[in-house]
Amino acid sequence: MIDKVESVWDAVGNTPLIRIKSLSEITGCSIYGKAEFLNPGGSIKDRAAKGIIKEGEESGDLQPGGTIVEGTAGNTGTGLATLAAERGYNVIISVPETQSDEKFQTLEALGAEIRKIGSYSFDDERHYYHQGRIIAGEIEGGFWADQFNNLANYRVHYETTGTEIWEQTEHEIDILTLAAGTGGTIAGVSNYLKEQDENVSVVLADPQGSGLLSYFRTGEMHGEGSSVTEGIGITRLTSNFEKARIDSGMRVTDQNMIDRLYHIARYDGLLIGTSSAVNLYTAYRLGIDNRNSGKTIVTFICDHGSRYQSRIFNPRWLEEQNLTPQPLDS
Ligand code: PMP
Repeated sequence: MIDKVESVWDAVGNTPLIRIKSLSEITGCSIYGKAEFLNPGGSIKDRAAKGIIKEGEESGDLQPGGTIVEGTAGNTGTGLATLAAERGYNVIISVPETQSDEKFQTLEALGAEIRKIGSYSFDDERHYYHQGRIIAGEIEGGFWADQFNNLANYRVHYETTGTEIWEQTEHEIDILTLAAGTGGTIAGVSNYLKEQDENVSVVLADPQGSGLLSYFRTGEMHGEGSSVTEGIGITRLTSNFEKARIDSGMRVTDQNMIDRLYHIARYDGLLIGTSSAVNLYTAYRLGIDNRNSGKTIVTFICDHGSRYQSRIFNPRWLEEQNLTPQPLDS
C-alpha cells in the first residue's frame, strides 16, 4: 500500500516501475519503465525541482518568501511552480516566446510569472537560459535554479531515483537506458546503480540533432539536424551530464520514436511523451539483441503523452513532420 502523504512535496518520487508487457514479450527480456508521469507536476522534473529547492533552503541561498527563477521551456518550470506554491515561494520562468500557449497557461495557473524571450543563440546573453540568471540577480531574494549545472539535480536522482530502482528490481538489473537533457537523471542513477553493481550497463539514448552521442564516442560535441522530441538532447556539456557513467549509446530518429510511441499506446495502454518513446525504443533495440537475451532492462516514462496532444496525436502535424507512425504488430 502506498502511504498517505501530508503535502505535494512528499508526493514526489516513489513512482512505480511498470513492466512494459508488449516489449517484454517481443524481446523475451523484462523491460520496465519508471512511471515518472505520476509525480504531482506530471514529470520526472519534479524530482530535480525538489532537490534544487531543498538544497537552496539548506544553504540559505533560497530564503523564505524568495523568488525562484529559471530559464526553461518545459517540465522544470512546471515542477518548480508545483512545489513553490505550497512552500510560499514566487516563481519567474523565462521562456522562449515560441512555446505553445498551453505551456504559458499551465505555468500561470500554478502562480508562476512568465517572461517571454525572443529567439537568440546560446552565446547571446538574451537567450532565455542566461536571462534566468540575470533576472535572479536583479531581484531581491532571487534564486537561480540552474538545472543544467546545479548538482542538486544529480544528487536528488542519486539519492531517490537510483535507490528506488535498485530496491524495486530487487537488485536484478542488467541494463539502464535513457536519454539526457540536463543529464541529472542519467548521472544520478548511473552512479548509484554502478556503485551497487559495477556490471549494470548504462546505455545513452540520444535523439537526432543531439551532440551527446558524438561527445561520448569522440569527445567532440557534434549534433546534426534537429528532433521533434522535447526535454532531451543537447549540444553543450553540462555539469550534471559530465558526471554520468555511460558504457555505450544509440542514436534514435524521430521515426523510431513515433513508431514506439504509437505501439506503446496501442498495446500497453500508455500514452507516453516523446522522450519516453526514445527511451523505450532503445530498451526494445537492446532487448532484441541476442547478447541481451532474458535480461532486465530499466528505462523511464518521463512524462505523459497528453502533454503533447496537439502535436503527436494530430495527423496534420505528423504529416508536416513527415512522420507516419508504424507500430509493430503486437
Ligand atoms: N524527458 C523529459 C520530458 C524532460 O522534460 C526531461 C528534462 N529536460 C528529460 C526527459 C531529461 O531529464 P534530465 O534533464 O534529467 O536529463
